[in-house]
Amino acid sequence: MKSKAIIIGGPAGLTAAYELLIRTDVQPIVLERYDYLGGISRTVQYKGNRMDIGGHRFFSKSDRVMNWWLEHLPEEKPGQAEREDDVMLVRGRKSRIYFLRKFFEYPVQLTAATLGNLGPWRTVKIGVSYVKAMAFPIRKVENLEQFFINRFGRELYLTFFKSYTEKVWGVPCHKISAEWGAQRIKGLSIRKALLHFIQSSGKKKQDIQQKETETSLIEQFLYPKLGPGQMWEKVAREVQEKGGQVVLNFNVTAVEVKDNRVVAVRGVGPDGQEQRYEGDYFFSTTSVKELIAAIDAGGSPAPQNVREVASKLEYRDFIAVGLLVDKLKVSEPGGKAGELVRDNWIYIQEPDVLIGRLQVFNNWSPYLVAEPGKVWLGAEYFCYEGDELWTLPKEKMAALAADELAKIDIIRREDVRDSVVVHMAKTYPAYFGVYDRFNEVRQYVDAISNLFLVGRNGMHKYNNQDHSMLTAMTAVDNIAAGRTDKANLWEVNTEQDYHESKEK
Ligand SMILES: Cc1cc2nc3c(=O)[nH]c(=O)nc-3n(C[C@H](O)[C@H](O)[C@H](O)COP(=O)(O)OP(=O)(O)OC[C@H]3O[C@@H](n4cnc5c(N)ncnc54)[C@H](O)[C@@H]3O)c2cc1C
Repeated sequence: MKSKAIIIGGPAGLTAAYELLIRTDVQPIVLERYDYLGGISRTVQYKGNRMDIGGHRFFSKSDRVMNWWLEHLPEEKPGQAEREDDVMLVRGRKSRIYFLRKFFEYPVQLTAATLGNLGPWRTVKIGVSYVKAMAFPIRKVENLEQFFINRFGRELYLTFFKSYTEKVWGVPCHKISAEWGAQRIKGLSIRKALLHFIQSSGKKKQDIQQKETETSLIEQFLYPKLGPGQMWEKVAREVQEKGGQVVLNFNVTAVEVKDNRVVAVRGVGPDGQEQRYEGDYFFSTTSVKELIAAIDAGGSPAPQNVREVASKLEYRDFIAVGLLVDKLKVSEPGGKAGELVRDNWIYIQEPDVLIGRLQVFNNWSPYLVAEPGKVWLGAEYFCYEGDELWTLPKEKMAALAADELAKIDIIRREDVRDSVVVHMAKTYPAYFGVYDRFNEVRQYVDAISNLFLVGRNGMHKYNNQDHSMLTAMTAVDNIAAGRTDKANLWEVNTEQDYHESKEK
C-alpha cells in the first residue's frame, strides 16, 4: 500500500500534492472547504467578468518557483492569448498613490510632477524631516511608526504611508511591531528608490527575472490570462491526472493526534456526511487558529498555553467590491483625453474615505473583462470579520464603494453599471497582539512529526504565493530526504536568499 498525505486546501497545499506525486510514492488527497480552488489566490467569476482578490503578481526571486509556474502555464507567444487560454501574460507593473486627489508615482519619485503635486511648503517639510531622521535616527526602534520615520522621515511617513498602512491594519502604526516593516519593506529606502529611478530611466526593459530589482520595484510580472485561480485549477487537474485526489466542499473540523503524530482528520464531506481520512503525512494551510481548535476537537487537545495563544491570534479580513463602469473620471495624466489609467492598482491614501486600494482589472489582463470598452474595478476594503463594514448588507457595501470613488473624483456615480461584493476572511495574519508568543505554538506543532504547516495562514506568516509554495516544496524535500526537523520550513521568507521587500 502506498503511503498517503492528507492536505488541507490552498495553493501551498496543491503545490505539495503535485510535488509529492512527481518526486515521491506518497499519494496526496487534497481536502478543500469550498467549491472553488486557489484560496486567497482564487479567481472570482461574475457575469463573465473575473476578479482577483488583492491582485496577484506572479513574480518571484526564486527560479524554482518561476520555472514551476511556467511549466504549468507557459509564457504567451505573440498573439497566442487570443486563441488559447492556458498561457501566462507578461504584464507591466504600474501602481500609484492617490492622494490630494492626485496621482503620485509609487515608489515616490523626486520628479517635477511630484513636487508640483505636493506644493513647495510640503516639499520643504519632507526634505527637512528626512535630513533630521538621517542625522538623528530613533535609537531603539520598537514599532512600525518609528521604523517608517527612521527610513523616510516623519513628513514623508505622514504623507505617503500612515493612512494606507492604518487602513490595512486597522490600528495606529505605533501599535504595530517594527518586525512587520522589516519583513515587508525591508529592502526599500529613499536611496534605493532614487538609484532605481536613475538606473531605469532610459534603460531598455529587463528580462522577467529582474534579479537585481527589489520586489516592490519590479517592472514586469507574469499573470495567468484568466486570473490567479487559473493556475490553481490547472494544478488541481494535473494532480488528479497523476493519481492524486482533490475533494471540494470538504470542511476539516477535527485533527486526531496520537503519540506526537497525526493519525486522521475528520470533517463533513460534500454529501453532508461526516467522513474520516487516515494518512501518513498531513499538510495544513488552514489558519493556525483553526488548526489548533481542530486538534482540540480531535480529542487530544494541545497544552493550555498553546490553545490560549492560538485562540487569540488575530487576522485582518478583506472585502472586494467589483464595479463595472462605463469609464473613469480620471484619465492617464499626459495621455490622450479619456485614456484609461495604466495602473494595475492604486493605493488610496486619502484619509476621508475607507477604501484602501483600487484594482483596475483591465490592466491585469484584458481577458478578465467580459465587455470590451467597460472598465472593471476592484475597490478594496480592509476590515475585521464581524465589524461594521464586514456586516454591512452587500447592496450597501456596493453603494459605499461607488459613493467613495465618486467622492474622490475617480468615477462618476452615474457611470456604474453593475457591482458584486466578495468577502474574504483571514487575508492578513497579524503581527501584533499575542503574536509575540507564537513560538509556543511553533514548538508544539513542530514536535508533531508528520504534520507540516505550510503557506500563509498555515504558518501565520506574511507569505506571498512564491513563499507559500516554497514552504510546501521544502516540506516535500524533507519527506523525500527523510529529514525530520522543520527548521528549514520556517526559514523560507526569513532566510537571506528569499528575503524580499513587499509593498502590499
Ligand atoms: C490582498 C492580497 C494581495 C496578495 N498579493 C499577492 C501577489 O501579488 N503575489 C503573490 O504571489 N501573492 C499575493 N498574495 C498572497 C497569496 O494570496 C497567498 O500567499 C496564497 O494564497 C497562500 O496560499 P495558501 O495555500 O497558504 O493559503 P490560502 O490561499 O489561504 O488557501 C487556504 C485554503 O484552505 C482552505 N481551508 C481552510 N481551512 C480549511 C478546512 N478546515 N477544511 C478544508 N479546507 C480549508 C481554504 O478554503 C483555502 O482554499 C496576496 C494576498 C492578499 C491577501
